[in-house]
Amino acid sequence: MTIQSRTDIDLLRTDIKHLVHPHLPSSETQRVIMTEGRGCRLTDASGRKYLDATGGLWLAQIGHGRPEMAEAAAEQMRTLEYFTSFWDYSNDKAIELSERIISLAPENMSKVFFTSGGSEGDDAAIKTARYYHYVNGRPNKNWIISRRTAYHGLAYGGGTATGFADMAEGQGPHLPNVTHLTPPHGYRTHLFNGEDVTDYCVRELEERIQQIGPENIAAMIGEPIMGVGGFIIPPADYWPRMQEVLDRHDILLISDEVVTAFGRTGSWFASPDHGMRPDIIVTAKGISSGYIPLGAVLMSEEIGQAVTGGHGYPVGYTYSGHPVACAVGLKNLEIIESENLLAASKSTGALLYALAAPLATELDIVGEVRHAGMGLALELVTDKTSRTPLPQNGRSVADVIRDETGVIVRVSSPTNLVLSPPLVMTEDEAVTAVSAVASVLRRVRPDGSIV
Ligand code: PLP
Repeated sequence: MTIQSRTDIDLLRTDIKHLVHPHLPSSETQRVIMTEGRGCRLTDASGRKYLDATGGLWLAQIGHGRPEMAEAAAEQMRTLEYFTSFWDYSNDKAIELSERIISLAPENMSKVFFTSGGSEGDDAAIKTARYYHYVNGRPNKNWIISRRTAYHGLAYGGGTATGFADMAEGQGPHLPNVTHLTPPHGYRTHLFNGEDVTDYCVRELEERIQQIGPENIAAMIGEPIMGVGGFIIPPADYWPRMQEVLDRHDILLISDEVVTAFGRTGSWFASPDHGMRPDIIVTAKGISSGYIPLGAVLMSEEIGQAVTGGHGYPVGYTYSGHPVACAVGLKNLEIIESENLLAASKSTGALLYALAAPLATELDIVGEVRHAGMGLALELVTDKTSRTPLPQNGRSVADVIRDETGVIVRVSSPTNLVLSPPLVMTEDEAVTAVSAVASVLRRVRPDGSIV
């Protein structure tokens, strides 16, 4: 980044002095200080322009800087900026948004609990699953099954289900009674000892259930497609067969759709597309396109009835059902529908894939290219035979792409180059994004260095 004005330098100094950034070593002195966004375009404090091919963190569905969203928030602030949703208090916008979400959700969904984001939602979902069994007289049915390289936020509940050791290090003890299985990452064949991916994962699930005892297991939590894990798309028979095992043992399924819901994969919800029949669905991100912090936990009628009986649902946050957040969420869903952004996600996503897929043939360091809707991952390796993850040698590939071309992409877990652009990305922008990626990948050596 070129610092061009005093203001930029002041912002940089102040950022370094006061602002704590997730996952940024304090030795790093570079910042990209965003000040403006329109569509897929961003501008930083120095005036430099960027093309956003990540939607920040997998969101920005409707694109940046939309005045109708600002108007929806302002209108609601003028009318009722806040009141609680605890006890018998409610508000019209939370009610309308709950109805709208249920109308879009898989048909067994019936109840909505609002949060301010995905981590709160995953915690609420885990509590809900345990509490459901508790009120049904099975207090020991409290284990949670998750998977390695899963991402369920970084609060203590969902954070324990998250399957990255480095994110949990030094903060224990974590939530007890959480166990992790193998992710269905077919490209990483060594994980499965030559066995079919689904056969392996289903057998492992059965074995783990027998070890812990089905009477002790509350739920399995899983993303339909593992986002942070590297946009891992499971084999088509994975979720149907996992679901069958869970059903047989009366184990609930929590589908974490924080990344996938509201159009990322081309559907309102990805669970049905992958053969999941969840009891609880966690959403956030695309529900408001990031214009305001918002999330929603959806529950089946049976779960909802059970956990709201007695003295009422024992989970709640000050901002649950926040009227401004819900008004913004409603406007966002209206835009996704009226502008056909689910269809755009499929068609522009297919274009991104068509442009990127040949790189797996052309370059030895691109092992596999995966996509669903507007999610795209290029798995980077030292070579196609060993499939060893490409080491980082110097600056990360994503940083070099950004600094050289202004296109923002992300490296995830540990060497997948991931694109998750706003669904409003134009075809020209898609071409620009993949060209930028290709221009740098063509110069990456097997040792990870960039020439
Ligand atoms: N679940 C999934 C699948 C996610 O990808 C994320 C964030 O990326 C979360 C949960 C956590 O959401 P938040 O960062 O809003 O707390």
